[in-house]
Amino acid sequence: MTSNVMPTYSRLPVTFDRGEGVWLWDDNNKQYLDALSGIAVCGLGHSHPAVHRAICKQSEKLLHTSNIYRIAVQEQLADRLTEKSGMDNVFFCNSGAEANEAAIKLARKYGHERGIDVPAIIVMDFSFHGRTLATLSATGNAKIQKGFEPLVEGFIRVPYNDIAAITAAIEQNPNIVAILVEPIQGEGGINIPASDYLNQIRNICDQHELLMMLDEIQTGMGRTGKFLAFQHNGILPDVCTLAKALGNGVPIGACLASGKAATLFTAGNHGSTFGGNPLACSAALAVLETLDKDNLIASAEPKGLAICSGLAELLQDNNHIIEIRHKGLMIGIELDTPCTELVALALAKGLLINVTQEKIIRLLPPLIIDDMQIKQLIDTLAMLIAQFTAHNPHVSDHAA
Ligand SMILES: *Cc1c(COP(=O)(O)O)cnc(C)c1O
Repeated sequence: MTSNVMPTYSRLPVTFDRGEGVWLWDDNNKQYLDALSGIAVCGLGHSHPAVHRAICKQSEKLLHTSNIYRIAVQEQLADRLTEKSGMDNVFFCNSGAEANEAAIKLARKYGHERGIDVPAIIVMDFSFHGRTLATLSATGNAKIQKGFEPLVEGFIRVPYNDIAAITAAIEQNPNIVAILVEPIQGEGGINIPASDYLNQIRNICDQHELLMMLDEIQTGMGRTGKFLAFQHNGILPDVCTLAKALGNGVPIGACLASGKAATLFTAGNHGSTFGGNPLACSAALAVLETLDKDNLIASAEPKGLAICSGLAELLQDNNHIIEIRHKGLMIGIELDTPCTELVALALAKGLLINVTQEKIIRLLPPLIIDDMQIKQLIDTLAMLIAQFTAHNPHVSDHAA
């Protein structure tokens, strides 16, 4: 199979034709349970009627005017996002990487205003912040950076979930102006830090007058059981980025700022042709309304727990499972062996999953998943893992 699309992904041999809720159908009409949601995008499931209605209605009226004019739906969306997050204002863009670019520019402007000419941002090992030059430089994965050097300067890397390393970096470098961190690392392997990690980072940022910048592109929009993951900690960051599930499949990103970070950008400092356009904002407004109306965010934790305890029960005698962990519907199942092959095996059985960091099965099911679908997910996946670990020659037996 050849195509004229640049081969930037090693694509699985399947093409989906339509979707509804947790289900997708391929072009041969085979049905799949989507436990990945297009990598944390379709939180409301596929073809959600509220999103469908919103974009149809908006497209009949107006698609685009430019940010040189006021855009009513964009202002409404900013109101809803600031209300729900406690942040003060929003810059809209079209993707996660762009949202993080805005955050990085905010940090640099903040530094320059404080007389720091070469501002630096603390970032983490195993982080993922996107594929543009600045965001791949911030990303803690050498594979993503290789071949694209020189990297953008001004990032200082420390281990994740290590407060002492942050403190040490700050002591060594007077140019640090911000800390950029994911509340839970997604691509990095569903790494869930200590429960007070963000509180400690907030304290450090206050003490040293740094911007606390949270990449909530994967954790946000209810995925972890709160609208934003930082709301588990009762804190407010200075900057917070969103994308993925914000538009349920319609491309939109957002960089939210509070307090001193909210007054940094002035006219001419940043921009986007499409950012915050009426179509994308109408979709995001429908997403926010549906999350509230259907009480979906509160359901993420019990659903995630049901999936994890169901899997743990069926796999309790399997000594190749290192850990099953979750926060809300952000789920990682860590094996003691590379298991990327499981993705294709699951696909053959009509189940969409992901494996990250080679050994961690990642599940990001839509928030609308119901009990029957959860049971099907547990049964299919437990069976696949059991078969894989029993037959795979790479697996080293703990008992041996
Ligand atoms: C997906 C992701 C991004 C990048 O988003 P894009 O829309 O692909 O640019 C950045 N940060 C995190 C945490 C992500 O999960």
